[in-house]
Amino acid sequence: MSAIVVFIDQIDADQTKAQGGGLLHPIHHQLLTLARGAGEPVAVVAGPVGAGLVAELGGYGVTRVLHSVQPELADYLVAPKADLVAQAAAAVSAAAVLVDNGPQGKEIAARVGVALDAGVITDAVSVSLDSGALVAHKSVLAGSYTVAARATSAVAVICVKTHSVEAAPAATPATAAVEPLDVAFAPASLGVRVMRRTPREASGRPELEDARIVVAGGRGVDGNFGPVEELADVLGAAVGASRAATDAGWIAHTAQVGQTGKTVSPQLYISVGISGAIQQKAGMQTSKVIVAVNKDSESPIFEIADFGIVGDLFAVLPQAVAEIKKRRA
Ligand SMILES: Cc1cc2nc3c(=O)[nH]c(=O)nc-3n(C[C@H](O)[C@H](O)[C@H](O)COP(=O)(O)OP(=O)(O)OC[C@H]3O[C@@H](n4cnc5c(N)ncnc54)[C@H](O)[C@@H]3O)c2cc1C
Repeated sequence: MSAIVVFIDQIDADQTKAQGGGLLHPIHHQLLTLARGAGEPVAVVAGPVGAGLVAELGGYGVTRVLHSVQPELADYLVAPKADLVAQAAAAVSAAAVLVDNGPQGKEIAARVGVALDAGVITDAVSVSLDSGALVAHKSVLAGSYTVAARATSAVAVICVKTHSVEAAPAATPATAAVEPLDVAFAPASLGVRVMRRTPREASGRPELEDARIVVAGGRGVDGNFGPVEELADVLGAAVGASRAATDAGWIAHTAQVGQTGKTVSPQLYISVGISGAIQQKAGMQTSKVIVAVNKDSESPIFEIADFGIVGDLFAVLPQAVAEIKKRRA
């Protein structure tokens, strides 16, 4: 069975505890689940590897855990992590490397692609085996087409969107062997060192890209994100927005979903007062279930919505909040 490398970056116990415990982030569980379905999952870790982490990785079928003997990798930016991933992938003769589809994951993928002369596929929503070849699946053009792509190189580097697949532990946990790797860093890789990190003030809501549920508001909220935030809070959801809303200054630009904003793929995306322009769809079309609330029944968002509510958001959202609270009581 071919080795499939999964890159595990920055384990943040505090952040992940709120999402079901364990040391790994949900995207790591998802990548490991995909890797197990396609070959032998090998974890490459950019931080310290303790017994708890090894046990958690074994629970997802990981048999080998590689990490850098140089302990301070977290103090650098992306380049040395890419060196680690590329050299670990070569050491285990990996057929593929799976990373997350965020900006850092994509940059690591690009650098690993160059180092290994490997094809890079971004925006994948799943990975499968087709006659022994690894195939990445993408959803494109506002979800109207799916694309199956295969790297023609010996190694494939694939960036997978968060929440595209359901994570599942292995039926039989594996005992993972820990293997330190003496990484030969390119001199330029260590050229920039992180001096300090200042955590953003916590909003109490999940991060947009990590959230299982996103409630997003557009121009229709007319400057008042209150109903959107209230619905998000009863659902434990993140708040997103269209560019019209962020450009108007009603909400931070970090909340923007779409072509020039963030790409999300939650289990549930509730679109509120958003028309569904192609640039907005580009960032949310792979959501598992899309619910749209819009007062215009002709709005293009209804073309991709699984459930549509034609109505005034200021009337619909408070009713939804009240009903959810009633059922939870
Ligand atoms: C290069 C480029 C990149 C772009 N990148 C992005 C991007 O990343 N993300 C993005 O979102 N856009 C992006 N855009 C902009 C995009 O083209 C649209 O202009 C934008 O998405 C429109 O935002 P909206 O749907 O909120 O506003 P509108 O298109 O104005 O739609 C508002 C909707 O709200 C509904 N509505 C109004 N009042 C209510 C109410 N009370 N109750 C219910 N419904 C109501 C209306 O019926 C309407 O459908 C980009 C554009 C360009 C050119």
